Amino acid sequence: MKYCTRCILPDTRPGIEIDEDGVCTACHGDRDKRARIDWPARARAFEQVVAEAKARSTGYDCIVPVSGGKDSWYQIIKAQEHGLRPLGVTWRTPARTEIGQRNLDQMIRKLGVDHIDYTIDPEVERKFMIAAYEEKGATGLPMHMALFAIPITLAVRLRVPLIVWGENPQLEYGGNEVERLAEELDAAWLAKHGCLQSTDADYWVGKQGLTEADLVPYRFPTQPDFAVRSVFLGAFFPWDSFENTRIAASRGFAHDAGDLKTGSWAFADIDCHFISLHHFLKWYKFGITRAFDNLSVQIRRGDMSREEAVERLRDVGMQVPGEDIRRFCAFAGRSESWFWETAERFRNPDIWVKEGGIWKIPGFLIEDWSW
Ligand SMILES: [Zn+2]
Repeated sequence: MKYCTRCILPDTRPGIEIDEDGVCTACHGDRDKRARIDWPARARAFEQVVAEAKARSTGYDCIVPVSGGKDSWYQIIKAQEHGLRPLGVTWRTPARTEIGQRNLDQMIRKLGVDHIDYTIDPEVERKFMIAAYEEKGATGLPMHMALFAIPITLAVRLRVPLIVWGENPQLEYGGNEVERLAEELDAAWLAKHGCLQSTDADYWVGKQGLTEADLVPYRFPTQPDFAVRSVFLGAFFPWDSFENTRIAASRGFAHDAGDLKTGSWAFADIDCHFISLHHFLKWYKFGITRAFDNLSVQIRRGDMSREEAVERLRDVGMQVPGEDIRRFCAFAGRSESWFWETAERFRNPDIWVKEGGIWKIPGFLIEDWSW
């Protein structure tokens, strides 16, 4: 495993490549972001996107996919600032947290936005999560499919000409030159970066007894009869999770350390109890935890040195989200040993080696890591 010499990301993380100077695509992305992207020109390009949407609008100008989290607030605020009338659309997680619900309620009230809380039959979610976990090691696959498909389908059906997504993850966390500058969240992006593992709704029919009808909410429009523009807000304005939180908090967004999710900043990933599992499984597959991503962003922001990030990582360790795993097993109707045995099946043999009965990653970032 090779690690970036500026941040702490390894080349096993999807989207990350480390060049001959030892610098990863995310750090290069950051340099581009600061120095090379002409942000005033990007802002003008967004005005054009806004103008086109307003010209085609018959009611709502755009859909903003929201969870109720800090980024959702920022997206709505930004859309409203640009004169757009947004419709908030949420895929309702079957494991919404209390603070997540409170923030969503507050967002609707304080920002004055209409909203659809799209709830899928929890029994369908349960079967789909079990199938996705057992077959792909990916508890988060149904979530990703739903949260992309639902806003896109509703935009086509409700004749809303624009969808305003949040960050461009390839710009924030690493991607190639073309991907970093991408504006559109389109089918090609979804296929590569949507966490769908090359599957679509039809692929899952018959698994765990799922029917075609069960999977309707996860289906993307085929041959849509209304064109929808689907853009990353982060492609037009510099994205900063800390700044988004500040802006959201100034309008009523609430967060506190009591809701801290494993490996995350105090204000991130607080809407859903199951998101931590999605991040945790990267430990088996790529040898990273959520802390690797977040500490790397903080290094790039200049909040801490690489040495400080490594120390912090050593302090927090691998951060097993025990409570969320128990919660997920209760939801799935499965035992915790089922969870751990399934996770084990997805341990990446290219990076993990068993030594004296203990799994270790040779060449791991921290030499004296407690395995
Ligand atoms: Zn890096």
